[in-house]
Amino acid sequence: MRSASVGKGWILLLLLSGSSFAAPAAPSLETQYAQRLKKIDRKKAADWMALADFCLQQQMDLREKWADALRQALKLDPTLEDAHLLLGDLKVGGKWVDGAKAESLLAEEARQQRAKGLVFYGSGWIDAAKAKGMREEDRAKLAWQESWGLAQRLDTTHLTIYSACSLETTWKLAGILEREFAVYRHFHADVLKLPPWKRFQVQLFKDEKHTLEHEKATGGSPPDGFQGVYDQATRTLHTTLPEKAPAAGQPFPVEDLANSVHEFFHAIDDQVFGMEGMNRFPLWVVESRAEYLTGCTLASGQIVLGAVQVSGNVDPGKLTALMPGLPLSRFFSMDRQTFLSSADHYTYGWGFAHFLLHAEGGRYAQGFGQYLRKVQEGGDGKDFETCVAPAAELEPAFRKYATSELPKRAQAGRKTGP
Ligand SMILES: [Zn+2]
Repeated sequence: MRSASVGKGWILLLLLSGSSFAAPAAPSLETQYAQRLKKIDRKKAADWMALADFCLQQQMDLREKWADALRQALKLDPTLEDAHLLLGDLKVGGKWVDGAKAESLLAEEARQQRAKGLVFYGSGWIDAAKAKGMREEDRAKLAWQESWGLAQRLDTTHLTIYSACSLETTWKLAGILEREFAVYRHFHADVLKLPPWKRFQVQLFKDEKHTLEHEKATGGSPPDGFQGVYDQATRTLHTTLPEKAPAAGQPFPVEDLANSVHEFFHAIDDQVFGMEGMNRFPLWVVESRAEYLTGCTLASGQIVLGAVQVSGNVDPGKLTALMPGLPLSRFFSMDRQTFLSSADHYTYGWGFAHFLLHAEGGRYAQGFGQYLRKVQEGGDGKDFETCVAPAAELEPAFRKYATSELPKRAQAGRKTGP
């Protein structure tokens, strides 16, 4: 962040720069899909879900097929909450309803309830008089949420989402974040102790301007390009999605989700390492891992770690352009304010995390894991080079990886067509 945010605990944010796509042909995508389709057991909902995961990994390219696979899974098992969430369906009166249809049903319900003098509180409608009798703290919270248009509340397995967006948009985000929780768990299961999950809040604002206004009003000093933040003090993730949500049954493009997912990983980190643990890390460790994990997706029931979905800060070309001017030793010792001052540092961190986890057959991954565990157990966050390798040794290997291996992986993950 360009200027420190006062009174809000430790604030993390993501700066997204515009992404640019070269458009090399990747003709194998349709073929890959056809091969997978051939292999699945069409009578198994889980197989369709795995196929949907593969399609989602390709984002825009296979969006029709993604939605189709989810619908096929639901035909076999109509209780699959994940599939409903991802398609943007809503539960109305205990039944799943198509998101677009549910929206108008719920809007009508809201009109009727308000006419009766009820207000939405928690996860239901309550008497306005009863709301008055609620604890001062609760009433203040309710008033605050309504003043920001966040009266809509959804509870999912791990989250409580207050939203100013349409229910459909909110459900779609919920589906994606629930999935990413599995990515984190998978990624860290062998390395870290994962504590029992404490629900945390997500506040979904209607657009970037709305998020920005909120950030300023609550004491933050958001820099240019601000899109979202995870606030440790209140265990709340503030984020936004474009007002124009994809149509019912369609996924969000990866670019629109990157910020929410990035901040989501901070929120999980906060639970895993605790506020003190998080603050023992140099900021680059926290931000680099969040950027790396944002690019990881599930496919065929497996986490595809190391995938490179070029988007926003994730860009091998930008990374190699940055490298000559930013040696690792300087990156390691960068203070928070400097780190937060440029989206370039996120790109650099993403590339370095990728290098640590995948270069030379995972040569550095074990040491990196040991380092994370050490910090979780109370160790010093400055011990990175002791646990992994000195900057001078990592520097040439990182350069080599960034110019050879990373662009190849990005090429494989790029979108097809213009
Ligand atoms: Zn961040």
